[in-house]
Parts: sequence; structure tokens; C-alpha cells
Amino acid sequence: MAQILAPSMQWQMKIMKNSTIASPLTAKMWNSLVLNPKRKGMARSTKFRVYAVKSDNGTINRMEDLLNLDVTPYTDKIIAEYIWIGGTGIDVRSKSRTISKPVEHPSELPKWNYDGSSTGQAPGEDSEVILYPQAIFKDPFRGGKNILVICDAYTPAGEPIPTNKRHRAAQIFSNEKVISEVPWFGIEQEYTLLQTNVKWPLGWPVGGYPGPQGPYYCAAGADKSFGRDISDAHYKACLYAGINISGTNGEVMPGQWEYQVGPSVGIEAGDHVWCSRYLLERITEQAGVVLSLDPKPIEGDWNGAGCHTNFSTKSMREEGGFDVIKKAILNMSLRHQDHISAYGEGNERRLTGKHETADINSFSWGVANRGCSVRVGRDTEKEGKGYLEDRRPASNMDPYVVTALLAETTLLWEPTLEAEALAAQKLALKV
Ligand code: ADP
Ligand code: MN
Ligand code: MN
Ligand code: MN
Repeated sequence: MAQILAPSMQWQMKIMKNSTIASPLTAKMWNSLVLNPKRKGMARSTKFRVYAVKSDNGTINRMEDLLNLDVTPYTDKIIAEYIWIGGTGIDVRSKSRTISKPVEHPSELPKWNYDGSSTGQAPGEDSEVILYPQAIFKDPFRGGKNILVICDAYTPAGEPIPTNKRHRAAQIFSNEKVISEVPWFGIEQEYTLLQTNVKWPLGWPVGGYPGPQGPYYCAAGADKSFGRDISDAHYKACLYAGINISGTNGEVMPGQWEYQVGPSVGIEAGDHVWCSRYLLERITEQAGVVLSLDPKPIEGDWNGAGCHTNFSTKSMREEGGFDVIKKAILNMSLRHQDHISAYGEGNERRLTGKHETADINSFSWGVANRGCSVRVGRDTEKEGKGYLEDRRPASNMDPYVVTALLAETTLLWEPTLEAEALAAQKLALKV
């Protein structure tokens, strides 16, 4: 809701009398009144009061001028929006502060704090949580030299708080063995847009269902594509911010969309995905639409929402890489349960074995097979090198957790020889 100045109620009623157009006041009517103050019946001393008017109904949004003010001729100061992950592990929180001059690196920024008792992250009597700036992006909302700052959270004693999954991931990604393998991640973030008041997907009839899935994936048309402006606005906002977004597409379920971030190296993948999620929350907020990262927002014959994670190491991308991929898949199969338990809340509602998913209770892999836990692309098979796609992660997974676990399982963890032999037989993998 944007707040604008609108004439007092008496004045509005006066217009109504002379007008055939019903409320609300249109931009044209408003213009004619403002630009021509001597118009008959318009007193110069018209009283104004603040009205909340939705910006999409054509009324002038007078706040825009202030929001777009360029302050750089008057001050070196910038606004930094400190962003962190809240107590549910999926909610993004943020607050802003003034920084004395533009910065290029998070190390130039001060630590900050917040009230953890209000985010489910600290008890009331000892509520201070400390934010450590970790990654900087350009702020597409404020523009200029203003920034978004991805932070992680610590106790005043310097211990990462339980919801700080970045800390452990950063440790794994700074392991020499992991660094030397330059792990790349391409993350396909799926999401669902919901109508604010009814929490029912965008474009769906309230209290009813659209026609069955089929015509919606990558579709165009008012009866097939719902929320494209949000997807597109988000795409540009990500590019502006410096997020490594690689594409978008409309999904199989109407009202559901996907964008991809990557390939990104190591910890950067998590930072970029979290920042992209923050942007999406802000853009959907502006659009008056609710963002859902639920893995199965609608029960029944409707696709769920995942966060497929494409992964490769240097060895996988080089000659003979397919063998390295197979060995990685073998390790992943042996730690299937560990991965599943870290791949998102409610994923059991999504991983049913239907709707392009594999059953949650069994691990499988295949070339070009979208019903498997892990898919290897045709190109990778043909070229004998490339990457694998872990299709298990849910849309609400934590990219710090998933990327770090993939690196750990495939680069740092080793099964016993017996377990390896058994798994190789089961998966028909020669290692
Ligand atoms: P899908 O065919 O499963 O829908 P997408 O095209 O949506 O796949 O996403 C694939 C993602 O994988 C992209 O973000 C892409 O940049 C990324 N990617 C491409 N090559 C690699 C690689 N070698 N390692 C990791 N990620 C990769
Ligand atoms: Mn995709
Ligand atoms: Mn998809
Ligand atoms: Mn995919």
C-alpha cells in the first residue's frame, strides 16, 4: 500500500457529484484538480489528508519523488541494509543503517546487533545477537551506492548461533581439499506466488482450481502465465544487485516460477541465493503478493517446488570427469538419509515418486531421468565430463547447508570399502 495525499472527504464527494465515474479517484481526475487550482469550486485552501491508496489503481504516488531522491550531491553517506536469516531458518529479516561513505568490501562495515528475542533466536533476558557482514550487493531499491549486506549471526561471545548455517559452510569451503576442487553450484530456486488474502495461488479461481497441469510450463498468455512481472522485476533486480542469476522460467504448476543462480563457487552460492530470496520477498511485498517456498503448496496432482542443486568439481569438469561424478553419486547414495534430513522442511510431501520426483525413501540416479534423486544430463554423458543435478532439495532448503553437505559428502567423506562395494553393486556403478 502506498500512502498518497488525497483531498479531504468533502472534496471527493463534491467531485463524485459532478462526475459519472465512480470512486476511486483516477490519476487523470487528480491531475486536473492539482494542475488547475483555480478551477471552479476548488478552493486554494483545500485541506488534504493522507489516504492509503493502492499504487496499482492509477493514482499518482507522490512518495516516489522522495524514494527516488538522489542524495549524492549532498552527502557521502550511504544506506546499508543488513540482512540475516531469522529463527525459522527460512525467514529473512533486515534493518538499515547509515554508513559514512561508500564501501566495496564487507570488512569495511561495522558489526551490528539485533533483538534475537523478537526473531526466535535468543531469550528475552539475554537477547542481543551480533551481525557479522559477510557479502555485499548493490541495492536495487535505493539505487546509488546503497548496499545490501548479507550477514551471519553470533552470540556476543563470538559463537555462531544455532541458525547460523553459513559459519559451518564457510569452514568446509575453506578446506584446502575443497578449495582445490573449485566446487561450482547452480541452484534452481522454485517458488509459488499466492494471493495475499486467501493464500491461494496467483491466477487460480478463489475456492477453485484451474485446468490440469500441461499448458502452463514456460507458457505465455493471460490464462496460462500468472506473475510474470514479478519474475521479470526480480530478474533485473538480481542482475543490478550483482547476483549471479542465470535464467528464469514459468513452472508446471500455474502461479509457480523458477530462477537459477550460478554456477557460483563455494560459499558464494549460498550468499547469492539468500540475497536473491530477500529481493523476491521485497518485490512480492511491493506487488501485494505472498511468496511461498513451501515444497508442496497444493496437495494433489500439482507439482511441488524444489531447489535442484547442480554441482560439479574441477575433476568432474575435466577429462574422465564422468567417473568422478559416478564416485560422487555413490558417496551421496550412502549418505542419502543425512542429505534428506538437511534438504528442507516438509520435503516428504513433495518427494513422492510422482510429479518429476523420486521417492524420499530410496536413492536413485540416471541419465536424463527426472524421476531420479540425482540426474546426469545427456551432455555430461556424451562428453564424459560435466556435472550432476541433485533433485532432492526442497524450495525451502538452506543453500549454505545443501552446498556444504554436497562438498563434504563428495570431497571430504569416505565410505568403508565394503559399503562402497555394496553400493556400487546396488546402483550398477563401476568405481
Ligand atoms: P534444468 O534443466 O534442470 O531445468 P536449469 O537450466 O534450470 O536446469 O539449471 C541448471 C543450472 O546449473 C544453471 O544455474 C547453470 O548455470 C548451472 N550449471 C551449469 N553447468 C554447471 C556445472 N558444471 N556445475 C554446476 N552448475 C552448473
Ligand atoms: Mn530448471
Ligand atoms: Mn523447475
Ligand atoms: Mn532441474
